[in-house]
Amino acid sequence: MKKLIRLGVPTKCGGRWSESTIGSILGNEKFIGDTCLQKGFIADHLTKQWKSNSGELPKYYVEGSHEAIIDRETFKAVQIEMARRAAKANHPRKLTFSEFSGLITCKKCGAKFRKKVSGVGTKYAKVVWACATYTYRGKHECAAKRIPEDILEEKCTEVLGLAEYDPNLLSGKITAIAVPDDGVLVFTFKDGTEQTATWENRSRRESWTDEMRQTARERALGGADNG
Ligand SMILES: [Zn+2]
Repeated sequence: MKKLIRLGVPTKCGGRWSESTIGSILGNEKFIGDTCLQKGFIADHLTKQWKSNSGELPKYYVEGSHEAIIDRETFKAVQIEMARRAAKANHPRKLTFSEFSGLITCKKCGAKFRKKVSGVGTKYAKVVWACATYTYRGKHECAAKRIPEDILEEKCTEVLGLAEYDPNLLSGKITAIAVPDDGVLVFTFKDGTEQTATWENRSRRESWTDEMRQTARERALGGADNG
C-alpha cells in the first residue's frame, strides 16, 4: 500500500489505497484464473440492497475459468503470509472463499467448519478447516479436530472416484460434508446417498503443539536422567 501511494499508482475509483483494498486484491481468486459465482445477492428487490452470501445461497467455484496471471503456489503462499501477519497483529483474517465454504458441519456442536491457517509463522503452516465453535469459543466448548485442506481434497477425490482433485466436480456432486467424530467425514451426494471416509494425520509431528513438544522434550530428558 505504501509503495503504491509512493509511486502514485491510481486506484480504480481514484480514492486512496487502503489496507482492505490491497487485502481483497491479494485474496481475489480471479488472479489465479478462478471465479467464485454468487459471492453476494440482492437481498431486497425494492431497495436493491446487496448482501454478502454467507451460506444463504449456494456458491459455485469455477477453477480455470480464464487465464491466470498469478500461479497457485504463490497465491497460496500469500494467503498464508497474510494470515501470519494478521495473527501477529491479533486480528485473525478470514480467508477467501473456497469450494468447501459452508459445506462442512461439525456434528458435535452443529457449527460450520471454517478455513484458517494453522502453525502460522512456522514451517508447518498449512490451510486447515476448523469448527467455528472451537475457533471462536475454545476447545472447552467443542474439541473437534481440525482437518487439513489437503486431506479434504484427497478424500473428496477418493469418494468421487476421480484420478485427480477437481473443485468443479465437487460443488456439483457433493452437497454436504458432516463430521460426526474426529477423523470421520460423511459425504452427502446430490442424489441423497451418503459415503463415509476416514483419515488420520500423516505425520504426528505436524499436528503437535508447542506444549506437546515441550512435554515430549521434558519426558525425554527425564528418561535420560533416570538412565
Ligand atoms: Zn464443533
